[in-house]
Amino acid sequence: MIIEGCLFPGCPEPKKTRGLCSLHYTYAYRLVKRKQTTWEKLEQENKVSPKRGIISKSNKWFLEGEVEGEVNIKE
Ligand SMILES: [Zn+2]
Repeated sequence: MIIEGCLFPGCPEPKKTRGLCSLHYTYAYRLVKRKQTTWEKLEQENKVSPKRGIISKSNKWFLEGEVEGEVNIKE
């Protein structure tokens, strides 16, 4: 049985934010803050979960002018 946990390999903690436990989210957050990476890049590499899939699709359209899949404009 697989329990959904932190995306960080071997980390036993349950996922809390963006698919990461609070510790690894903090690491990721710091790297993004220091501009060593971006949330978008981490999402593309499946290292974090999209915060809100719907919103990020809308952002993608605004930023890049293209939309993948369905866009829910409810929010
Ligand atoms: Zn973790």
